[in-house]
Amino acid sequence: MHITHIGIDDTDSARGMCTTYLAALIVEELLAQKAEFVDYPNLIRLNPNIPWKTRGNAAVALRFHTENPQKAFDIAKKLLIENSEAKEGLADPGLVMHVGNVPKDIAQFSRRALHDVIPKHVADDVIKRHSMQYYAEGSRRGLIGAVAAIGNTLPKDHTFEIIAYRDKSHFGHRKVDKESVIRMDKDFSKYTFNNYDESADRILICPHGPDPVLCGIRGESPADIVKAFSELKFEEPVERYMIFRSNQGTGEHLTEHLKEFRAHVSGFVRGYVVERAKIQQGGHVFFYMQSSTGKIKCACYEPAEELRKVVLSLIKGDHIEVGGGVRKASKLNPAVLNLEYLKVVKLTENKVMENPLCPKCGKRMKSEGRGEGFSCEGCGTRASKKTAKLIPRNAEEGLYLPPLHSQRHLTRPLKRYGRENSPPKIIDNWFRIFETQIARMW
Ligand SMILES: [Zn+2]
Repeated sequence: MHITHIGIDDTDSARGMCTTYLAALIVEELLAQKAEFVDYPNLIRLNPNIPWKTRGNAAVALRFHTENPQKAFDIAKKLLIENSEAKEGLADPGLVMHVGNVPKDIAQFSRRALHDVIPKHVADDVIKRHSMQYYAEGSRRGLIGAVAAIGNTLPKDHTFEIIAYRDKSHFGHRKVDKESVIRMDKDFSKYTFNNYDESADRILICPHGPDPVLCGIRGESPADIVKAFSELKFEEPVERYMIFRSNQGTGEHLTEHLKEFRAHVSGFVRGYVVERAKIQQGGHVFFYMQSSTGKIKCACYEPAEELRKVVLSLIKGDHIEVGGGVRKASKLNPAVLNLEYLKVVKLTENKVMENPLCPKCGKRMKSEGRGEGFSCEGCGTRASKKTAKLIPRNAEEGLYLPPLHSQRHLTRPLKRYGRENSPPKIIDNWFRIFETQIARMW
């Protein structure tokens, strides 16, 4: 039996659907049809720097064995149509199915979808080439993410997210006990990330829109996040949860060198600061660097506290690496790289030249005029050259990220640097629907 892959994207909308919830509904029916999942549902984040993204630009891939791929596709399509908000112009969903191993060109397509902007017709070509079944509504843009999700099998580093959903009757403020989130964050700090931003006193596990997601905990292994989840206290019923394997927190979108400085691409460049940072209106900070891609304008926005401080202390000649997305040029401004991380590779010496001190009386010498050297007013001692003074740098070499609450879903958190997870075994309780009575006890 071949593996069947179903990719779903762009079903998010302002009013309350959510790609991951649709995936959970599809999983429920596929499990009832005895589909055997060969992987956790994959939550694949795509290039976060394209302007028409949905919330967080997420797509989902389901990978399973089934006797009847056609039936699986029909189930997914039926649920997508039932839950679609495309008719109101609120979403552009796409659904794609591929049976068999993931071909190389689809994997390449996925890599590109992390860094670049892919035109719709490229997705159409891939779908045609492999005779993939598909369904799309609205602008059909969802097909791009759906194909990209299938192609990213997360063969290398990955993380997990347990996403809990709530009942439709509870689409108001999320009733998750804040103290329990803070406690869970402390107890599981080694195995989970981005639960709570202490510096801003902000809970990060709950979204804010009118969607079915109650909360999501991200972490290093399925067992850890299930345990972490069981520490949370809710004052509303949990309808179900599902565990996703994901490229969130891997920094995967910034792993390619930016060879071209085009609008909306994501990646990194290395080079030297050529113009110090200036603060402009709104508190935004801009500086210029020279890289193999050319002279690049970099931006760091107001909320980026510590990162911003370091950027302001950079001087000409500092060797740096920056990662981020390119914002389109406007009439007044060139294209700008929005900083998602800054690595200070080597700080240059900050030297200022000054008049020499008199070796006899220690006084600062006076200039005798341009090219005439220096002399001491007290004793007449002469010197020919200025001396260099080293000014201590108030920055350190190292890696700097924006504060937790303004990081991308794909941003590799500081604590994940140097960490790489290898493909896991599926644990039993990766998908669970609660009876309302049980749910109320959480
Ligand atoms: Zn003197």
